[in-house]
Amino acid sequence: MINKKKDIRALTKAQLQDFFVANGDKSFRGSQVYEWLWNKGAHSFEAMTNISKATREMLDENFVINHIRVDRMQRSSDGTIKNAVKLHDQLTVESVLIPTATRTTACVSSQVGCSLDCQFCATARLKRMRNLNPDEIYDQVVAIDNESRLYFDRPLSNIVFMGMGEPLMNYKNVMKAVEKITSPEGLGMSPKRITISTSGVPKIIKKLADDETKIKLAVSLHAATDEVRTKIMPFNETFPLKDLRESLEYWYSKTKSRITYEYIVWKDINDTRKDAEALVRFCNYVPCKVNLIEYNPIDDGNFQQASAKATDMYQQILERNGITVTVRRSRGKDIDAACGQLANKSA
Ligand code: SAH
Repeated sequence: MINKKKDIRALTKAQLQDFFVANGDKSFRGSQVYEWLWNKGAHSFEAMTNISKATREMLDENFVINHIRVDRMQRSSDGTIKNAVKLHDQLTVESVLIPTATRTTACVSSQVGCSLDCQFCATARLKRMRNLNPDEIYDQVVAIDNESRLYFDRPLSNIVFMGMGEPLMNYKNVMKAVEKITSPEGLGMSPKRITISTSGVPKIIKKLADDETKIKLAVSLHAATDEVRTKIMPFNETFPLKDLRESLEYWYSKTKSRITYEYIVWKDINDTRKDAEALVRFCNYVPCKVNLIEYNPIDDGNFQQASAKATDMYQQILERNGITVTVRRSRGKDIDAACGQLANKSA
């Protein structure tokens, strides 16, 4: 039987209020139910004790409340936590909590699987099954916020959309989740503490700039020539660097917010001086900083981390050209929670 009931958490507050008015009730009733759903985290209509029985039954006939369930939680020796999250249709995504001395960062997924084809990423091997709904993204954040309070005695401080999926290919739902995360009725977090990471979808980067959200942008660059980038990220053929550059210039002109480039240096792929110089040229287009990230092997051995010498060379060339560069160590590797390792192995 096809379940025709709608997911009530897909409705905005205004839509919920309209629903009640259309059914001969007060708009205020919509606000009450909304509060139950989002502030009190109700998992059933029955739990909504200040709503009449008849109304609760009516809601039950029309809607379902879908919640994610943390199916399995793993803790790394470095404190990183990975959640395997079961969705209402039994699909699974993963999210990660990364603690440091001063921050707790949630790394959340935006899609089940991914439609992009980055050759070095474990998630790319999973077919994109579907986009996550706003509430499924929001719930991941809430679950991590709870874990942060429980295990580290502090609320979540930052969010990065660096889990499974390409957030800009699920733009509408990601932005609805961000709205919820930042609204006082949700978690009330500052948008400045949220980073969207993208492989680079130029049209949507421009849209994000137009939407004036104040969130931060990171781009997984990994190569600054089309020749190399298309080899390792084949969709670069469709979205070449010249289009990416143009969209980033637009982003900066609108937001004045510095971009972070994520970059891995691989042996025999992008470890020459010429590659590093191409990166410097790309960095000169728009104010930015570079995170040189450690490669997390994904089993098949086609990609290998470049030598320390090559990474040092990159660092020196960037710094000599006045570009801020950070060398990032991986976290949570022992539980496959590090960048590019999310592939539902724990499910
Ligand atoms: N699709 C978005 C969000 C995923 S973020 C994006 O590409 O930005 C995941 C980050 O991990 C990206 O910077 C990605 O390039 C990086 N990554 C992917 N595979 C990796 C691996 N095996 N080792 C280290 N980083 C990896």
